[in-house]
Amino acid sequence: MSLADIKNGIAEACAESGRNPADITLLAVTKTRTPEMIMPLLNAGHRTFAENRVQEAEEKYPALRTQYPDLQLHFIGHLQSNKAREAVALFDCIHTIDRASIADAVANEMIKQNRRLPCFIQVNTGEEPQKGGVAPKDLDALMDACRAAQLDIRGLMCIPPEEDVASLHFLLLNKLAAAHQLPFLSMGMSADFKAAIRCGSTHLRVGSALFG
Ligand SMILES: *Cc1c(COP(=O)(O)O)cnc(C)c1O
Repeated sequence: MSLADIKNGIAEACAESGRNPADITLLAVTKTRTPEMIMPLLNAGHRTFAENRVQEAEEKYPALRTQYPDLQLHFIGHLQSNKAREAVALFDCIHTIDRASIADAVANEMIKQNRRLPCFIQVNTGEEPQKGGVAPKDLDALMDACRAAQLDIRGLMCIPPEEDVASLHFLLLNKLAAAHQLPFLSMGMSADFKAAIRCGSTHLRVGSALFG
């Protein structure tokens, strides 16, 4: 699919669910994609991107940013404390706060670097042991820890189990975000972004559908 196709899909799903496309951010997930593959999107006016590895992003994005200073880069991968410094320096938003120790590490770096990034908490809605994210039952405690660290939590993020109906996870995430009065929901990928929009997503993370 092209960028235009995805945008049409977003517009359709918004029309079906009475939502405004302006309330939805399409993050182009560029992991494993080369700068040559990313450039056409930038040339088409797209500015919001996401990567799941700090080092890979460091190799690609500083050069792209000198050409397009207004590009926004979101972090959507598992974050280790020893990468917090680089992550805070490079990214504009972090979607994967999932434990108190990483909340503290990121908050400390933000103070040191005098950079305040909005963040999301990743919730392991399917409670899969191999996946990152806080268990739904532990979300309250993590929210408290983030508040104590003065982290700016704006929303929740999830990656549904592949074998499940994604909408069930999207609706659970929506309910959890509403309970905590969080305005943003990072959910929906290539296969299910329309369903995610119907369930209230504000940040779509789309990779393979854009790059083939
Ligand atoms: C790779 C990735 C995506 C994009 O998935 P596609 O199915 O290629 O659209 C979304 N979110 C995360 C966290 C990813 O790692």
